[in-house]
Amino acid sequence: MLIKTASLRRKYGPVIALKGLDLSIETPGVYVILGPNGAGKTTFLKILSGLVKPSSGTATINGMDAWEKHPEVAAKMGTLIEQPEFHPYMTAREILTFHARLKGIADIEPEIRKVSLMTEITGYLDRKSGGFSRGMKQRLALASALLNDPEILLLDEPTFGLDPLGMILIRNVIKKLNTEYGKTVILSTHLINEASELADRILIFSKGELVYDRPADSEQKLSVTLKGDVSLISNLKPTVNGNVVYFDLAGKRTINNILAEILKKGLDIVSIRVMDNLEQIYVKMQGGNQPE
Ligand code: ATP
Repeated sequence: MLIKTASLRRKYGPVIALKGLDLSIETPGVYVILGPNGAGKTTFLKILSGLVKPSSGTATINGMDAWEKHPEVAAKMGTLIEQPEFHPYMTAREILTFHARLKGIADIEPEIRKVSLMTEITGYLDRKSGGFSRGMKQRLALASALLNDPEILLLDEPTFGLDPLGMILIRNVIKKLNTEYGKTVILSTHLINEASELADRILIFSKGELVYDRPADSEQKLSVTLKGDVSLISNLKPTVNGNVVYFDLAGKRTINNILAEILKKGLDIVSIRVMDNLEQIYVKMQGGNQPE
């Protein structure tokens, strides 16, 4: 499936939230939109989900316009935009049943079983949502978004306001939704470490523009501390600093290839570390200011 935007603009009165966005996203994968407050992340996700009409330009999903063909497009998407609010006296099962009916699902019980397994809330189905932690509410919202088996999930800051454990649980569920269930996830975040951990591709937004769009590993470096004569691996063209050598991980070079070559030359590997340059790139892309 192909998501495409062309010269996508959205104005709210005098504020230009998106300034002519051109991008394409191909499923499957995890796409992370990183950017400070007001960068246009939520507006982009709202346009894709058909909640907001573009001022000009287009957003299409497999050639179908997200606004004009809303029902068809919405059937392929599960959305979690804005903080979920549930009726506190309803159980998770009742809430999911209600949402399943709204989506016109006929066979509701197996569908609820499936989405609660995917989001790891099976043990909470018969508890009232009023007693749920924020993280639990978020997983319930994710379960609701997964009803009717959408191919694409649009998640606006899914870990916002969660404690560290809640964040870890949600991230693990998101990873699983992609790797085990083949869902494409497009999510927004302020958190650079979250982007590094989850993304196959990172899109950085700044003031309504797409300023960076690369595979997540394209800026990674491998740092290896060695024992032995470092010049033996000069064919690998590392950056050398004493007994520590650095390799770019872009392209076809994998950690496995590099380590195998080093071992072949008879050098001892003392330690390895994968380093991410994303923080510096993020600051540069926001015009050199510290992220908000
Ligand atoms: P945040 O991380 O704070 O959610 P964001 O990157 O998601 O930010 P948007 O919410 O898309 O950014 O907002 C982009 C710009 O559009 C901001 O300046 C915001 O104030 C403005 N904006 C968004 N929605 C509206 C609205 N309904 N009415 C007026 N202005 C809006």
